[in-house]
Amino acid sequence: MTNLPYISIVIPVYNEEKTLPIMFARLTAVMDKYAKPYEVIFVNDGSRDNSQVILAGLFAQRPDVIRVVQFMRNYGQHPAIMAGFEHVRGDVVVTLDCDLQNPPEDIPKLLALIESGHDVVGGRRANRQDLAWRKAVSKFSNIVRKKITNIDMGDHGCMLRAYKRNIIDQIVKIGDASPFITALSQELSGNPAEIDVGHEERAAGVSNYNLYKLIRYNFDLVTGFSLVPLQVFTIVGMFCSGASFLLVLYMIARRIIIGPEVDGVFTLFAILFFLVSVTMLGLGIIGEYVGRIYKEVRHRPRYMVKEILEKK
Ligand code: UDP
Ligand code: MG
Repeated sequence: MTNLPYISIVIPVYNEEKTLPIMFARLTAVMDKYAKPYEVIFVNDGSRDNSQVILAGLFAQRPDVIRVVQFMRNYGQHPAIMAGFEHVRGDVVVTLDCDLQNPPEDIPKLLALIESGHDVVGGRRANRQDLAWRKAVSKFSNIVRKKITNIDMGDHGCMLRAYKRNIIDQIVKIGDASPFITALSQELSGNPAEIDVGHEERAAGVSNYNLYKLIRYNFDLVTGFSLVPLQVFTIVGMFCSGASFLLVLYMIARRIIIGPEVDGVFTLFAILFFLVSVTMLGLGIIGEYVGRIYKEVRHRPRYMVKEILEKK
């Protein structure tokens, strides 16, 4: 096979009819100037708007660079990127969101670091332009990740990133049922680098993440990379059992020395409620891990492809 692209750019698309044409124009302007063979793999993650029609139109214009993987329905941003990874042909892979929040013009900066020998280059959203609550959640999530995993990176939520192909092949091989791509690539990397990239407000449309999706997404990060919550829980459990044992000894002694007590019922309730809620929390944490294992053992496909548009 000749004419293989050197760079594969993977872009997940969910209801991006407004941003797609501008984004593609800006991307091709940058990449045509970069003058290395490239391909753009759009993964249409079950968009409900006109995105597929627009993608087909773009494909008709530039069948030399575009490939479109269309999902049967909406599976989520990370499964969409995974599908893109399964179709890449280039030696270097770049991921980019479709909404123009990260400028395609920054791609050459990432590629320069790849050329200088790094196998993973992560973007850091300098000057992030998102709603305050989103930034607060990210900040918290990045702090928790730093504390409970060994993964050292500045901004695990930034999708403007570049990878050497071997890293992508490894991610595809691992075939995680709930992948958290940025953290996984950082863990696999032998020589990562980071660089500040631009960040703007969404060019059009609205963010696809609500608070529930964000919480789910962060649980994937925690259960995928750390056993610390379970261990903390064991330690809390040990502490509580020790303390309650002392309380029991005290009550027995009190009963023998002073006699039976009748007061203090509400104190007892308070202690009980506390312990019951700690137990519930623990069950929830265990449930997160069990759910993750369940997803792995079911071996259901992570996504179903409806159609692929590519030059034959
Ligand atoms: N996306 C996707 N499937 C989804 C949600 C989002 O493919 O279910 C894509 C979306 O089209 C965009 C990228 O993932 O290209 C990031 O999504 P979004 O901008 O909504 O997230 P945010 O920037 O708010 O984190
Ligand atoms: Mg966005």
